Amino acid sequence: MADRDKIFDIAEAKNRLIADINHSVWNYAEGGYCEYKSAAKLMEVLRAEGFQVEEKAGGIETAFIGTYGSGRPVIGILAEYDALPGLSQKAGEARHCPIEGQAYGHGCGHSALGAGSTGAALIVKEYLKEKGLSGTVKLFGCPAEETGFGKAFMARAHCFDGLDMCFSWHPADANTNFPRAITNYAVRFDFKGCSAHASSAPEQGRSALDACELMNVGVNYLREHVPTSTRLHYAYLDCGGDAPNVVQDHASLLYYVRGPRLSQCGEVLERVKKIARGAALMTETEVNIQVLGGLNDYIPNHTASRLLADAFCAYGGPDFGEEEYAIARKFLGALPEEERNKTIAAGARQNGISKEAFAARPLNTAAEPYSEKVRQTVMPGSTDVGDVSHIAPTGQYMVTGVIQGTGDHTWQFTAQIGTSIGDKAAQATARAIACACAEVYENPELAEQAKKELLEETDGVYVSPLPEDAVPGEKR
Ligand SMILES: [Zn+2]
Repeated sequence: MADRDKIFDIAEAKNRLIADINHSVWNYAEGGYCEYKSAAKLMEVLRAEGFQVEEKAGGIETAFIGTYGSGRPVIGILAEYDALPGLSQKAGEARHCPIEGQAYGHGCGHSALGAGSTGAALIVKEYLKEKGLSGTVKLFGCPAEETGFGKAFMARAHCFDGLDMCFSWHPADANTNFPRAITNYAVRFDFKGCSAHASSAPEQGRSALDACELMNVGVNYLREHVPTSTRLHYAYLDCGGDAPNVVQDHASLLYYVRGPRLSQCGEVLERVKKIARGAALMTETEVNIQVLGGLNDYIPNHTASRLLADAFCAYGGPDFGEEEYAIARKFLGALPEEERNKTIAAGARQNGISKEAFAARPLNTAAEPYSEKVRQTVMPGSTDVGDVSHIAPTGQYMVTGVIQGTGDHTWQFTAQIGTSIGDKAAQATARAIACACAEVYENPELAEQAKKELLEETDGVYVSPLPEDAVPGEKR
């Protein structure tokens, strides 16, 4: 069994550095595939601790792999560090107050995610060294999780090959297991028509905007005839201009096609493409279809997920103190009364305490144990960790980094994760992931068991959702 006390001691010594990484990356607030400073910060820390660092992993500018140790088991830890547009916000500020001159913000908490994962790798390194164990730890710097399918591109470039197990996590409003997630294809449809005066010569025009509208109508009729779990969403990338009296000769749509499995999603996507071609035929326009990217579903590996949840339950969630509870009360107080009451009731239930007690300390601290239910629950969202989970047995956990009910991709999330609440989430995660890794180094048969479970799910085949010509960071 892993020496949990030793891990705890090593972790204590890394806490300051972990908080420093969270704050640095939070301040850089760089968007997908532009995380130059953030990646540099993480690489600098790894190099200083004796890791070998491969820059531009998989040919991606802001991806990297830091490696320490030798031999098996080889364990991967995933770090993310991309921010989101429109979510700039001052740290700890409970009213909307964007930072001047900063467009992006860490509204999904990836600053803490990167800090916690890096911290875990550093603790593992120290543990391997002190215990004289065989094994390798690899910290993967994964860019553009939000919109760029970073890990799918890294997977296509074989970055994750040879891993015996892999761990990641995500800041959230509670300490809970990470369920299954669904696949996603992002596809662009560019229609080209013929412009004309919409009133004096309408017969000469062929409207690309009409084609988009007809395509959307067609897809809306398709919804009835796809598997129930399918999700279809669209957005206009280009409406063809703002003059009603000019027939729009260009217009574009971006579609997401989601479902539980890649094969099922692929079949639906082919039908969506037929509708697009039908719309082009009806309007005498042309359509260019481009699959920009895609993700596999996330498979929570039984052994890896259990190890990680066990570690969280052994150590407990983040060590919040009065400083964090004071910040949390401020955010709770800023909610409209009805929402505040709902939040308090949900938090009290979640932690098995009274409403008064939760209102005074409004952060979820209870850690949810692992159960088989995790692998049957499907979250109607997608993550590029999915692709990693098809290659290596992968476990993830959600960790309290914001108050109960704070939604992902909000300025409230940005504001809270940039405080010591985010630091504590990252610090707790670092020691828990390190503990799960240590169990595997001490008991390598766990990795064999986990790989057997993965084989049952995938037959050992990884199918990349990316078309050959897809390139990271393509403009959409
Ligand atoms: Zn995220």
